[in-house]
Amino acid sequence: MTLNKFFKYSLQIGIAGIVINIFLFVTNLYYELVVPVIENSSLEGAVFIFLDNLIFYTPCIFMVLFVAYIVTGQIYNKKYHVRNEDKVTEKLVEKNEAVQKVLDDKAEFLKHKYYTNCPNCGSVREENKTVCSFCGASLIIEKDKK
Ligand SMILES: [Zn+2]
Repeated sequence: MTLNKFFKYSLQIGIAGIVINIFLFVTNLYYELVVPVIENSSLEGAVFIFLDNLIFYTPCIFMVLFVAYIVTGQIYNKKYHVRNEDKVTEKLVEKNEAVQKVLDDKAEFLKHKYYTNCPNCGSVREENKTVCSFCGASLIIEKDKK
């Protein structure tokens, strides 16, 4: 799973988690469900005390985890969003440059007048060509030669 997916709905999931957490805590449902399981188990001594404490603090731990999930998710999504925007901008600039080059070429092409037949070999000028396709001579009619 990518971070992207992991944080996609962190705000919604985080809030849902906090709401459920508060609900379980306020209604005492959490302790009613979990504490008997531990108390009826055959655990003893340090392990029992550790688990007992863990259960007691679990709602707090979950609360902190959910808040951290929301906060890091928001920060990550913001950064990811900015990164995406940068990529889109880059692509637009590239496209714009390509279009500009075509327009420049066209403008350069339209600046000149062209011979219909090559002045060098007499071949007919092909459409949109600036040099002869056969001998490579320039087909541009120089202004001063008019
Ligand atoms: Zn020619």
